[in-house]
Amino acid sequence: MAENPPNIRPDLAPQARFGEQPRSGQPTLGMVSLGCPKALVDSERILTRLRAEGYAISPDYTGADAVIVNTCGFLDSAKAESLDAIGEALVENGKVIVTGCLGAEPDYIREHHPNILAVTGPHQYEQVLDAVHAAVPPAPDPFIDLLPATGVSLTPRHYSYLKISEGCNHKCKFCIIPDMRGRLVSRPAHAVIREAEKLVDAGVRELLVISQDTSAYGVDIKHAEDRGHRAHITDLARDLGTLGAWIRLHYVYPYPHVRDMIPLMADPTSGVLPYLDIPFQHAHPDLLKRMARPAAASKTLDEIAAWRATCPDITLRSTFIVGYPGETEAEFQTLLDWLDEAQLDRVGCFQYENVDGARSNALPDHVPAEVKQDRWNRFMEKAQAISAQKLAAKVGHTMDVIIDDIDEDGVATCRTKADAPEIDGNLFIDDNTSALQVGEIVSVTVDEASEYDLWGAVNTR
Ligand code: SF4
Repeated sequence: MAENPPNIRPDLAPQARFGEQPRSGQPTLGMVSLGCPKALVDSERILTRLRAEGYAISPDYTGADAVIVNTCGFLDSAKAESLDAIGEALVENGKVIVTGCLGAEPDYIREHHPNILAVTGPHQYEQVLDAVHAAVPPAPDPFIDLLPATGVSLTPRHYSYLKISEGCNHKCKFCIIPDMRGRLVSRPAHAVIREAEKLVDAGVRELLVISQDTSAYGVDIKHAEDRGHRAHITDLARDLGTLGAWIRLHYVYPYPHVRDMIPLMADPTSGVLPYLDIPFQHAHPDLLKRMARPAAASKTLDEIAAWRATCPDITLRSTFIVGYPGETEAEFQTLLDWLDEAQLDRVGCFQYENVDGARSNALPDHVPAEVKQDRWNRFMEKAQAISAQKLAAKVGHTMDVIIDDIDEDGVATCRTKADAPEIDGNLFIDDNTSALQVGEIVSVTVDEASEYDLWGAVNTR
């Protein structure tokens, strides 16, 4: 067997998901998944995470830098099959990481296959990712990866990324994703829901929906409906919201149909968090056109006002590029004025850089480094002031938080519904945390705020 067996993601992955050409230097892994549905959940989580970290998944052993074998050890025949699969991966590839149920017997495996790189037990997917990082170091590329550079840290079990599509139909001039990852390929909605159900069954309390262009989900498959689920982002968000986890949407573009999702966000019983991560990148219409941004002509301030009218508690996060080729001081000032009016809750900002292969490299009038730095400073100063003011207004309010970590001093690091992991702020609880558990959602009252973080106390339960 020199191919990933189809049962890795039986109906989940259109061929393109496995058939893509890794970009030059992209770390690439193969995977063999044996065993029961629980093992499959782990395989799926590992694959989702690895892809989000920038790894390519090879359809065959020879194209991979290493192979993960997720084993089964339930019956003797399953053990034998697992040992065979490990042996074959060693012959075909040579670098093999073993996980899964048979991984609970590392001595038994090493007796047969002493040359494997690492063995971890069932459901220890964090350790698998550790082993992958050691064997095939990630090569984060901020221009095409979906996770922040810190994303190589491990996803705790209580939240998970859920990738709904791959590729992108746009041609933003600073971006090479369409060249690297191809055009939009959406997963069938029933397959996304199925993966999400299994993640929730496995203990996940928060699902982070990611893709290159979440609002375009399903366009390529004509929003097909199959097994009761329609491949449209509004329907998908509604369906995901019934699973009992927090649903957080990333990388949404301000198309008119985004308005249809806002009532879901305004309904506290829908499960869809009142949180939109929208990469606006700039506010000046001419500059957006020069970037060839999707929805460049949309009146974003009007859209934002309409969203807030429907859902006053909505948290808006965005990223921006300053110093794009040809950006004039007047265009930059438009951006600052826009931010003043938009009052976004969370903001990231990058200084423009050339990326190999991007069409923007050839644009005239590149902005000098010191001007970019100055604009970045001015932009961040304003964004920080807005954030500080918004967080100060939360003091005295009661809200639910999800607990991400409790350290040895008993300080609990949590997130409100307004905070995505790894990119937004935190809410810290300093006292009375002994009864709390990581992954739990608790009610707190906010008692202090800084520019980016909050502090609070647990309400009596
Ligand atoms: S929308 Fe633009 S920036 Fe985003 S992935 Fe597509 S081409 Fe790149």
